[in-house]
Amino acid sequence: MPGFELFGDLERKEVNDVLDNGVLMRYGFDGMRNGHWKAKELEAELVNTFKTNHVQLVSSGTAAVSVALASAGVGAGDEVIMPTFTFVASFEAIMMLGAIPVLVDIDDTLTLDPKAVEAAITPKTKAVMVVQMCGSMGDLDALQSICTKHNLLFVEDACQAIGGTYKGKPLGSIGDLGCFSFDFVKTITCGEGGAVITNNKDYYLNADHYSDHGHDHEGNDRGAETHPFLGYNFRISELNAAVGLAQVKRLPEFIALQKKNYTILRDAISVLPEVTFRRVPEGGEESYAFLNFFLPDLETSRKVSSAFKDNGVDVCWNYFDNNWHYIREWHHLKDAKSLFPLSSEVRQGLENIKTTKFEQSDHFIGRNISCLIKLSWTEVEVKQRAENMVNIINSALL
Ligand SMILES: *Cc1c(COP(=O)(O)O)cnc(C)c1O
Repeated sequence: MPGFELFGDLERKEVNDVLDNGVLMRYGFDGMRNGHWKAKELEAELVNTFKTNHVQLVSSGTAAVSVALASAGVGAGDEVIMPTFTFVASFEAIMMLGAIPVLVDIDDTLTLDPKAVEAAITPKTKAVMVVQMCGSMGDLDALQSICTKHNLLFVEDACQAIGGTYKGKPLGSIGDLGCFSFDFVKTITCGEGGAVITNNKDYYLNADHYSDHGHDHEGNDRGAETHPFLGYNFRISELNAAVGLAQVKRLPEFIALQKKNYTILRDAISVLPEVTFRRVPEGGEESYAFLNFFLPDLETSRKVSSAFKDNGVDVCWNYFDNNWHYIREWHHLKDAKSLFPLSSEVRQGLENIKTTKFEQSDHFIGRNISCLIKLSWTEVEVKQRAENMVNIINSALL
């Protein structure tokens, strides 16, 4: 997944354009910038990549989720349904708005179980946020129709899934709003950065304003601007956008490499009868950023992941005890009421998270192993890795 592995001359050239004129700010300074508008160019490039009407770059993927929700009117006291397996940014971005994260079970897609989503809807529910974890996706048609039926916003956190598709559409472009991260370890990196994408012009304009103190970006040189919308500062800098501009042009190359490496590993371990794979919904194509598979039980997957580690098979994890990605170890969320001045509604929401047993999520995350797919591996290295993985899994199963 990490685009930084192949950082090179193209990235340096784009960054040097910015350094040559010294305008590091994405807005204004029209006369000084020598025609270089890296953030604008990257937005235009991403409009094509995502086949969407509008793209708003922001400072991070976490900011993208907050800005997306805020621009569609989600705020204090609103409930946002999200999965138990994700990155901590999901609940952070919701709580930053004073909204309430409502966590629900995942299924064998490793993200939202539509049945669990439907059961969690209350009169306060405003949005459902699917997280397209590890390069694949949820049952997007089913989730979308639940949202349509209950008049809820459908948001995709596609931070880990750039390049994946569902029924021919890029992941991120299916919901009302899609969110991407370009942090240092994502498939496409800006160093730090993110994007909100949408076909809804109002949401887009709100996102544009909200991410820059409410400025409307009308006219030249920031002269004629007004503030039609409340805002903060979630801007990306020209330096970061310049890196992303070089990287995004290489996306097809990166996805092809991911697919090649993923396929070698998958083909090798799929001969083992005890190994099954994460379900990719019909019509979906992964981005191949990760290979996810299930072993028969938690004990075996713990054994295999530690044997991987001891035998040089790096970047493979069982997330059951991981405190970045899975609810079991999110003590800072469950005990957050003692740390932050949260509203009583948010406190109540966190109480629910604390007391709910997510047995179905434990069932899938406990048995799962998730292997990052690197871009820089040589074919010899991938084949050696595949052989090691098969041997290690085989001996764990004895
Ligand atoms: C990386 C990530 C984010 C946050 O992105 P940052 O740019 O690091 O803030 C959000 N959601 C998911 C699923 C991620 O993997």
